[in-house]
Amino acid sequence: MAKRQYDNGEIIIHWDSDLCTHAGVCWHMLPKVFRPSERPWVRMEFATTAELINMIEKCPSGALKYELKAEQ
Ligand code: SF4
Repeated sequence: MAKRQYDNGEIIIHWDSDLCTHAGVCWHMLPKVFRPSERPWVRMEFATTAELINMIEKCPSGALKYELKAEQ
């Protein structure tokens, strides 16, 4: 239904609501970043890029993905 992108200047997070199982790994690991009751629900500024990548690699459904931005 919804695909969203979030950008912190270093990486772009892609989130696909159709794949998300709402298991909550993301908001348990990084509760300041992933806030399912708020919009926007991903607040990248509350974690480092390394923390975000570490979390995204643990998303069990593949709903969260990231891509590294090319250095300017
Ligand atoms: S960890 Fe992945 S599957 Fe689980 S709620 Fe977050 S985005 Fe959805």
